[in-house]
Amino acid sequence: MDIERRLLDYFAPFRRTAWLPLVLEQDGPAWASKFGGAAFLPEGESHPICPNCGRPLQLLLQLDVANLPEPQCWGADGLVQLFDCTNVDAKCESKCQAFAPGSRSVVARRVAADTPGGASSASIEHALAPKHIVEWSFADDYPDFEEPVSRQFGEQLTVDEFYAWIDNGLTLVGEKLGGWPAWVQGADRPPCPKCSRGMEAIFQIDSNDLVDLMWGDVGVAHLFQCGEHPDELAFTWECH
Ligand SMILES: [Zn+2]
Ligand SMILES: [Zn+2]
Repeated sequence: MDIERRLLDYFAPFRRTAWLPLVLEQDGPAWASKFGGAAFLPEGESHPICPNCGRPLQLLLQLDVANLPEPQCWGADGLVQLFDCTNVDAKCESKCQAFAPGSRSVVARRVAADTPGGASSASIEHALAPKHIVEWSFADDYPDFEEPVSRQFGEQLTVDEFYAWIDNGLTLVGEKLGGWPAWVQGADRPPCPKCSRGMEAIFQIDSNDLVDLMWGDVGVAHLFQCGEHPDELAFTWECH
C-alpha cells in the first residue's frame, strides 16, 4: 500500500476541517477579517507601538469572529487582532524574540463586540499589501508527523517510508483557520498563562504567502488561543 493510502487510513479518525481564506487584494472595512490594512482601533485608544523602535506595529491579521465559517476561535464574537513589528532596521524581531510567546514586539488581543471605534490611521513603514478576507474554502487536514498522535504510526514505518511521509504529509501548509498546525521543529503549543494547558493553534501564517513576510528561514507562524480563557492569545513561529 502506498504511503498516502496508509496515512489516510491511519489518520482518518483525526481529520479536521481547515478553512482557507479567499482574499480581495485591497483593504476591507475597519471591522473585517483581513491581512494587513488598517486595524480597528477602539475609540480613545492609540495604535499599538513597538517598545523597541517606537514605531506603530504592523497589523498582520484581524479576524471578525462572528463571521468565521465555524467557531474556530473561542469567544463567539468580537475581533481577534495580531500585530507585529516588521521594522528590520532596528532588529526588533531578534531583540524582542518575536518568535516566542509573550514577545514585546507582538500584540495578540481580542476586541469585544460592539466596541465603538474605527480604522487606525497609523502610517506603517513597509506596510504589507492589504488583503480583505471575503470568503473561506475548506479542505481536510490531518496531523503533522511531529504530533504526539502521529508517533505510533511513525513507529510502523521503515526509514524510507518515514521520509516519504515527511515529503508527502497530509498537513496543509499556507494560511488556514483551524485544522492541524504544520510544524517545522516540533509540536510546541505555548502554555496558557492562566491554566498552563497547551493552547490551540487557531490560525497559521506561512512564509511569503498571503502575508508577504518570511518567518526566519522559511518558517511557519501560528496564532494560539486557550479554549478556557479566550482572552489568552499567543503568537509563535518555528523555522529551519
Ligand atoms: Zn520595532
Ligand atoms: Zn487557559
